[in-house]
Order: sequence, then structure tokens, then C-alpha cells
Amino acid sequence: MPHAEGRNDIFSALFKYFEKAPETVIYDFACQLAPYCMSREPLFFKDTCFAVDEMHAKGHVGCSQASFMSNYMQVRPEVININTSAAECSNSGLSRIKKSISYMDQKHAILYTYVYLCVWNRRQERKHQSRLEKELLRIPQDM
Ligand SMILES: [Zn+2]
Repeated sequence: MPHAEGRNDIFSALFKYFEKAPETVIYDFACQLAPYCMSREPLFFKDTCFAVDEMHAKGHVGCSQASFMSNYMQVRPEVININTSAAECSNSGLSRIKKSISYMDQKHAILYTYVYLCVWNRRQERKHQSRLEKELLRIPQDM
């Protein structure tokens, strides 16, 4: 995308590509996205929780506390381990191939990005696997 995404881009992606709306949407402007989505497709988004990620919440001084992920993390155990900055990490990763992609046609750019993300995801999996194995080694064997 040549410019920063807007509410309609997020709304369209969710509405077009999800059969059922996600339970939780964590987004830097979720406080504005929620009313936008609810006014356009209230039935589709009726059970979705929209929350501003921890990193961007600091900038939302006039917004309701109800839109901050940090508050949901205190009362909903299923969201405690969510990395609310995953999108920022992903943006940072993709910025590394931005220049290369700018010289490619669409077909090659999509393929290159796909392979880059596969390698990146595999590295993350191996890192988590390695961390898990180290933790398992620390657990006494007689348990
Ligand atoms: Zn806000």
C-alpha cells in the first residue's frame, strides 16, 4: 500500500476475507474502527472486541479506557499472552524488503513477499521451539 491504511481498508479486509468476524481485533485506531465497523455491518461485527494495542494506547488520551487492550488483558485470560505489537514487528520486517519489491512486477513481488514471510515464520517457530525445549530441560524429570 502506498499510504497508511485507513478504517475502510481494515473494515474491507475483515469483511471480505473472514467468514465470521474475529473475536478480537487489535489495531492502533481500534477506537475509531469499532464504531465504523458497527455502523457499516453491525450483524457481522456484533461479537467483536476492538482494542487499541498497548504501544499505541499511550497516544489515545481522549479515548475511553474500554478501547485499551491492556485493560482486557487484566480480565480476559485468553488474551494475556497476545503480542499486541505483532503488527508493528511485521511492518518492521516487511520494511526490509520494501526497496527490493519496488523494482518488481506484482507477480514477483507477491512471490518474494510470500517466501520472505515463510522464512521469517519458520525462524520464529524455531526460536519458540528452542525456547520451549530449554524450559522443558529445566523441569525436574521426576514430575
Ligand atoms: Zn483512540
